[in-house]
Amino acid sequence: MAETRSTQTWQNWGRSVETHPVRIAHPASTAEVVTIVREAVAAGHPVKAVGASHSFTAIGATDGVLLRLDRMNAIVGTDVATRRVRVQAGISLHDLNPRLKAMGLALPNLGDVDPQSVAGAISTGTHGTGGRLFGISRAVVGVQIVTATGDVLEINEQHEWFGASRVTLGALGIVTEVTLQCVPAFLLHAREEPMALPEVMGRIDELVADNDHFEFYWFPHTERTSIKRNNRVPEGTERRPIGRFRHWLDDEFLSNTAFEGINRVVAKRRSWIPRVNAIAASTLSAREYVDDSFNVFVSPRTVRFRESEFAMPREALPHVLGELAAWFGAGHENVSFPIEVRFTAADDVWMSTGHERDNCYVAVHQYWRSDYTDYFAAAQDIFTAHEGRPHWGKIHTLDASYFAQRYARFGDFVAIRDELDPGRTFSNAYLDRVLG
Ligand SMILES: Cc1cc2nc3c(=O)[nH]c(=O)nc-3n(C[C@H](O)[C@H](O)[C@H](O)COP(=O)(O)OP(=O)(O)OC[C@H]3O[C@@H](n4cnc5c(N)ncnc54)[C@H](O)[C@@H]3O)c2cc1C
Repeated sequence: MAETRSTQTWQNWGRSVETHPVRIAHPASTAEVVTIVREAVAAGHPVKAVGASHSFTAIGATDGVLLRLDRMNAIVGTDVATRRVRVQAGISLHDLNPRLKAMGLALPNLGDVDPQSVAGAISTGTHGTGGRLFGISRAVVGVQIVTATGDVLEINEQHEWFGASRVTLGALGIVTEVTLQCVPAFLLHAREEPMALPEVMGRIDELVADNDHFEFYWFPHTERTSIKRNNRVPEGTERRPIGRFRHWLDDEFLSNTAFEGINRVVAKRRSWIPRVNAIAASTLSAREYVDDSFNVFVSPRTVRFRESEFAMPREALPHVLGELAAWFGAGHENVSFPIEVRFTAADDVWMSTGHERDNCYVAVHQYWRSDYTDYFAAAQDIFTAHEGRPHWGKIHTLDASYFAQRYARFGDFVAIRDELDPGRTFSNAYLDRVLG
């Protein structure tokens, strides 16, 4: 198996976490993962796997043995009748989506980027938006996990631990294969347009209910938003993808190249931010297109940032946004990144932010060269006052005592962790904090 020994540095995408694993390995099969786990346990090293390292928290961090499953990227089985696809856990969503399309299939919902591995995405409860839809983990119908003893565990829908296996935070073992319940490939009609925040909030129930996927970005220090409505189209509808120039202008130049330039400047001239936000929001224009679902869900993101995102009961949204507006209004800090608001339906995944609750999600971002601590701390205070559950891969400072109150099955999940990993082979400081 290919591997590199010691003194290497691992960093996450947001450059908020850095470690020096004693060993970085790239196994190609479940059998190789078993060997590595057994060797690590014998040597007394912890083991963590990472995917695209897109988590902003230290959830995947280790100074022990780091597994990169980039060679475990195959589709290992397809059941056409049930539309179930079994993949090796390291496959990225970017590679998987077009391969599913070639089979006439798709994942029912996605987040807004696609570099994540399947295992990484499901381990933190990665989600997109859709008032009647769910996070990616809800599509998981089976998981293969290598445990601390080197045993290979198959957990399917009948297994008593199924509810714990779809969002594991990486705490139960190394996920080596995942079976996904897909849907027929579909096109989405995307409509993006500016809308004033009071109008969005006045129509929020209708906008969430009447669209398959509704989300909006609110520009802090303004009352402007950009809304996105993505809806499934009737069979036979033609693709009308965005033109190449418009794609370059909106998605690459304005959203990334120009936005990076603006952030570099305002990082040193923070008093300019309210005016810059107002100008940026006033240049928003409407656009419509029809494309493959995964092309509509996913956008390029080249401006590096840090993020905190919490799920809250839907009815909390007006209060949460009002409290954030009051915080900005009090002049604590000027923030250049738009605030992202999304929605999902209640699910049955024990450690999912969507567990048994219809949610709104509010995400705050900070340019990576700017300090996020005061802003995210203030946002966290607002979110936790509304029963917020933080995204496991996004920045927060909460611990097990908080999660025991927020997740009905928290104790059951921790008990399974105790049974599968009593020696804490798969733990790290983050997991010790959030799981106890
Ligand atoms: C630009 C950007 C955009 C994002 N957009 C969204 C979004 O729209 N919606 C959303 O919900 N989140 C979003 N995220 C967060 C991201 O989806 C999650 O943090 C996700 O977990 C990252 O996947 P990854 O493959 O990079 O996993 P990593 O960050 O590498 O790992 C995440 C966790 O999974 C564990 N893990 C990885 N592989 C395995 C394995 N094989 N077995 C066991 N455990 C494993 C790791 O140990 C770690 O605990 C975004 C992040 C970035 C940087």
